[in-house]
Amino acid sequence: MTDRFWIPAMVIITACSLGSWLTCNRSHTVPKRTQAVSTRVVQCSDQKNIRGETMSDKITKTDEQWRDQLTPEQYRIARQKGTEPAFAGKYHDFEGKGIFRCVGCENNLFSSETKFDSGSGWPSFWAPISKQNIQTSPDKSTGMTRIEVMCNRCGAHLGHVFKDGPAPSGLRYCINSAVLDLVEEKQQQD
Ligand SMILES: [Zn+2]
Repeated sequence: MTDRFWIPAMVIITACSLGSWLTCNRSHTVPKRTQAVSTRVVQCSDQKNIRGETMSDKITKTDEQWRDQLTPEQYRIARQKGTEPAFAGKYHDFEGKGIFRCVGCENNLFSSETKFDSGSGWPSFWAPISKQNIQTSPDKSTGMTRIEVMCNRCGAHLGHVFKDGPAPSGLRYCINSAVLDLVEEKQQQD
């Protein structure tokens, strides 16, 4: 008699406990997921692609091949994570229209549509053409943590991204002119 009563009772108690645990666990999961998403948005812009153009095929070359292809200044910045002097690059106050490509692999990186005058002395953009065309990584080389921006196709160092940019992204991609190559838009003929 005792077993016939307790076994079904234990099954019911176990089922209720499991149900309440799942409910409780689910209610605690929601704010964690919300927090994780908001953190990701701050770290990396979720802006829509400007032109939706992506190049995902990777390019790998030897150090010697990069030295042969690039100028010493391009090599120092792109392959050795260098920085050009402020207000010295060819694109910092450039207002032409077109697509800025990577000097290493012709990957479409930034559009003149998102370029703005940051006053920093380096070409500045509030979004890349596509987030798939760049990659970002924490950079602690100067003692403070910055977010490095690289070409996602050939791994070239491009510059850094900061959170003090204009709307709509609030981001400032601070990029070296030396690693960019502008392909100007053809002017429309009437
Ligand atoms: Zn590249």
